[in-house]
Amino acid sequence: MADDKKLTTRAADFSAWYNEVVLRAALADYSPVRGCMVIRPNGYGIWERMQRALDDMFKATGHRNAYFPLFIPESFLHKEAQHVEGFAPETAVVTHGGGKKLEEPLIVRPTSETIIYSMFAKWVQSYRDLPLLINQWANVVRWEMRTRLFLRTLEFLWQEGHTAHATYDDAEEEARRMLGVYSDFMEGWMAMPVVTGQKTDAERFAGALRTYSCEAMMQDNKALQAGTSHNLGQNFAKAFDLKFQAEHGGQEYAWNTSWGVSTRLVGGLVMTHGDDVGIRIPPLLAPIELVIVPIYRSDDERERMLEAADRIMRALADWERRDPGRLRVHLDDRDGMKPGAKYYEWELQGVPLRLEIGPRDLEKNQAILVRRDTREKRPVSLNTLGEDVADLLTRIQEDMLIAARERREEHSMRHRISYDDFRALMDGEGAFVYAGWCGSPECEAQIKEETKATIRVLPDEEFRSAETPSTCLKCGRPATAEALWAKAY
Ligand SMILES: [Zn+2]
Repeated sequence: MADDKKLTTRAADFSAWYNEVVLRAALADYSPVRGCMVIRPNGYGIWERMQRALDDMFKATGHRNAYFPLFIPESFLHKEAQHVEGFAPETAVVTHGGGKKLEEPLIVRPTSETIIYSMFAKWVQSYRDLPLLINQWANVVRWEMRTRLFLRTLEFLWQEGHTAHATYDDAEEEARRMLGVYSDFMEGWMAMPVVTGQKTDAERFAGALRTYSCEAMMQDNKALQAGTSHNLGQNFAKAFDLKFQAEHGGQEYAWNTSWGVSTRLVGGLVMTHGDDVGIRIPPLLAPIELVIVPIYRSDDERERMLEAADRIMRALADWERRDPGRLRVHLDDRDGMKPGAKYYEWELQGVPLRLEIGPRDLEKNQAILVRRDTREKRPVSLNTLGEDVADLLTRIQEDMLIAARERREEHSMRHRISYDDFRALMDGEGAFVYAGWCGSPECEAQIKEETKATIRVLPDEEFRSAETPSTCLKCGRPATAEALWAKAY
């Protein structure tokens, strides 16, 4: 190990802990280009599993993958007024190619609405061509000034869904459906509970009619916007002349949606589940679900234990698990390294289960299983190992979601809170605060200025309080909605 000293604790400095754990668990590294990151195999392995799960969910809801160019003609960005206003300040622009100045500069995509809807306009003629349901896996570039590994980088990987529909209702239904897909993924796969709802106008995507979001609480009680889904209305259709022949005759503009999640989710996973020992990966997303560490003292023991461990690994890897496929098992047979040093490394890297086996275990036809989430140990018979491992992985996945949900609820406030107490809370340990809002952008802006907290969402019904708050947190006038307030990444 390059660095054996203990991690900074989360309580001492959450932000320092995050950077250290990302680097030391070898998820990512800083790159020679300021603000960009290198995603290392440990981090990319998690992203690959996220991609695979999400891609299956997108296909199950009727979407198909396509790929559009990295470069966007500068003029395209200017066709939708709000869109250019939102994105122009953070674009990278290519002015030269092949040693010559370009006639029209090219934007490196910060998002692909413009180029994709310009193509949709060519492909859609009639209502029969709708809905058009496309997803793209790609990289995008946003020239951010302050960057953090995974959370905010100049270039990041993501998927962006783009759809066209015949009616407003169809687009609205799609935007909500994909928000539901995200929320299912985040809870079911990432064991990361989210609050869903609608963004206020101040936080809406540039060019959208409505933006919906999944907001997760990190362990410093800040919110992470983990995924968004936009009903774009006809804004882009009008800008790019995306029209179709309606069923009852006449030309109409299509209705669009777009939705995306990015490698930011890997950062969210770390900040939701990590502890002072390292990261903890929910089994469904773990590139390795179980690591086998053989224990031996002599060369003779070494040979016997490696042979037994290898047999166990093969048996587990061949064992027919119904869902989600074969067990992902790794045998740590590195010689000249003490078991303790191996445990340390695998715990740092968050592998959900560890199997330890020594000569005395083998005599008893057993092994020791150690959970990464609770660090609980227990002996298991080698005869029923496959079932036991699979059951335990399922339980770990469930328990991680329960623990994260309990943590969030402990740090959520739903009772009346004075504005002074709210300020003190946001200055201190932070929280998710559900409070009334009068609907005025001025109150929202003042709160942001004074406390750095923003309205994360106007929560969907299932997240709202039993009793609707009656007055605005800031001005005391009657509330028109319940808002979820928090500081955010
Ligand atoms: Zn107010």
